[in-house]
Amino acid sequence: MVNDKESQKIVDIIQNFARQSSLFVLAYGTGCGAIEIPPTMTSRYDAERFGIRGAATPRQADVLLITGYLATKSLKRVIRAYEQMQNPKYIIGFGSCTINGGMYWDSYNTINRLDMYIPVDVYINGCMPRPEAVIAGFAKLQKLIQAGKADGWDRYQKNLEFYRGNQKKIIHNWVMPDYNW
Ligand code: SF4
Repeated sequence: MVNDKESQKIVDIIQNFARQSSLFVLAYGTGCGAIEIPPTMTSRYDAERFGIRGAATPRQADVLLITGYLATKSLKRVIRAYEQMQNPKYIIGFGSCTINGGMYWDSYNTINRLDMYIPVDVYINGCMPRPEAVIAGFAKLQKLIQAGKADGWDRYQKNLEFYRGNQKKIIHNWVMPDYNW
């Protein structure tokens, strides 16, 4: 006899398998690394064979791919796009600029650590990462989803005050709806 807890566990495994097998990606091409996305998605590397394909809008996307440095102005658009996505949703930070600012670390107008503003599930390092590294990053995200450990969307809700505080510190003209999850 299977109890409620065990049947929920089975449902989670099946749902996570379905989620990791079909990732619709919204690529936010902020930095130079965006140039590696076309070869990753097209016939040379063919990411679709791993269940990874593009999405047209945030509302259809599971993954937000941030491909490099973010100016404070672009950050506002990224936050807006992320908050329009349905849960569960995931973020991949692509390139050194998303990790520590990269070569723009001391710029007056770019951010240094993406995960201070939105929750990053996987980072892909390099400047710029090649398509093999991008596919390896997606494989890592798929493993986390299957294990139920890609929980950035949940952390965002639980720590919204922390993220909002950081966001509002650098985005001065803050005109955005405040969601009430
Ligand atoms: S990590 Fe390198 S390739 Fe990527 S946005 Fe920064 S400078 Fe450009």
